Amino acid sequence: MNCIPIVIALSQRGVQIHSPQCSACVSGMESTDHMLLKCPFAVEIWNQIWDWCGITPNKFSCLKEMLTYTTMIGQCPKRTTTLLSIISGAIWGIWKERNDRIINNKIHLPGIGV
Ligand SMILES: [Zn+2]
Repeated sequence: MNCIPIVIALSQRGVQIHSPQCSACVSGMESTDHMLLKCPFAVEIWNQIWDWCGITPNKFSCLKEMLTYTTMIGQCPKRTTTLLSIISGAIWGIWKERNDRIINNKIHLPGIGV
């Protein structure tokens, strides 16, 4: 899962990194799972999405675990596809916000429509 060019993955590829810390919370190392699941910024977004979808929030250790769980609770193919689409959009939004923060110095607050 370290194919996303975040700080830890870039460092492992030999790219010189100024700081390995997450730019959103500055309390964790920027790994894929931290950025997309464990960072307080991401947690707030996921909590809003789970609430919006009527799903009890869960803490996942990795993205694969969240996708597996979503597939199991989908109840039917159409709902599963819808949930996975929502998750894909949220992942894209978190990634885009991270890049805006680092590249453009723009800071957004968590929320639907990030
Ligand atoms: Zn963070």
